[in-house]
Amino acid sequence: MKKAYTFRIYPNKNQEVKLNRTLSTCRHLYNDSLEERKREAELNNLERDFGVFSWGKPQWITYEDQANALPESKTSFQKEVFSQVLQNVLKRLDRSFENFFGGNGYPRFKGMNRYNTFTYPQKGFGIEDGKINLSKIGSIRMFLHRDIQGKIKTCTIKKDVDTWYVIFTTEIEREIKKVPVETIIGIDVGLKSLLTLSNGEQIEPPRFLRMSEDKLIKEQRKLSKKKLRSKNRNKQRIKVARVHRKIRNQRKDFAHKTGRMLVDHYDRIVFEKLQIRNMVKNHCLAKSISDAGWGQLIRMTISKAEEAGKSVIQVNPNGTSQTCVCGYPVPKDLSVRVHNCPDCGLVLPRDHVSAIIIENRGKNVGTDCTEFTPVEIGPILC
Ligand SMILES: [Zn+2]
Repeated sequence: MKKAYTFRIYPNKNQEVKLNRTLSTCRHLYNDSLEERKREAELNNLERDFGVFSWGKPQWITYEDQANALPESKTSFQKEVFSQVLQNVLKRLDRSFENFFGGNGYPRFKGMNRYNTFTYPQKGFGIEDGKINLSKIGSIRMFLHRDIQGKIKTCTIKKDVDTWYVIFTTEIEREIKKVPVETIIGIDVGLKSLLTLSNGEQIEPPRFLRMSEDKLIKEQRKLSKKKLRSKNRNKQRIKVARVHRKIRNQRKDFAHKTGRMLVDHYDRIVFEKLQIRNMVKNHCLAKSISDAGWGQLIRMTISKAEEAGKSVIQVNPNGTSQTCVCGYPVPKDLSVRVHNCPDCGLVLPRDHVSAIIIENRGKNVGTDCTEFTPVEIGPILC
């Protein structure tokens, strides 16, 4: 079982400079390596189209090629960074290429404020006297507010606007007994920022989250009016980033509490499989708890369920809003809020009906076959 622990760290001025330099070096390495792979891919395409190459057939560049070349080609900046941290940068790039081949967008170059984490994947770090010891950086004060369970596997340093965090991922070897499924709940994640449970209950994100979201829109509008590359723009950018952080924390908190409540009350929790890509396109959702927020809720529920020996299942979402519990098709567009079945006479709010259908779909699957494989809940990379 994997777990992630986040603690705030307090670097001194000198250390903060080193942390920022490390980030910058990693970002440059990322961009340069991406450039290299991109160029090589273009050459390959040319070769494919024209067939002749006076300087020989170009090779595809892989993670291994780049990692092997790294020790030889280190710049003076890179020599100041722990070598596994640099390797991890290449690994990240490789992963984003894998995602690309799996149907996601082409890896992008990372701008100045778009590269906020670096990782010690195995060693080069340690905890001593309540401080985090980082190779090539130093011993940084840390607020260790809870015990770490399990063996620490990786250590990631993260910059969030003007604060720094360390994230440890650990692995715990523990036999968890599966709880027999007695209670089951279906959950419809609605367009209107709320969850509807198959027992008819609704869970709404707290009001202050909404308020922060309104504030974000306001601050963002201000930002768009500031002159490019001006001092004021930079100040405003930091302001916006702070509101973002606040929202992120509030969402996370909401997801934690909701996930905890679900796992405490139910043995099997059924969500519909979110089609994140479609949702992102849908702008009217932006105001509600965002798509990323739903994904986070599901991930957290999964990890909590896992620890408790319970299960989370994601079922096919097709038609959950267009049929009746009895199976009769009841097509309705988004404006129709009440479900009214001409066949069996069922009248209920539409989200409630969807939740019941989701629950039923979750009932019908075996415990293992479609159970959602727990995703790694490690740090979300920038
Ligand atoms: Zn019906």
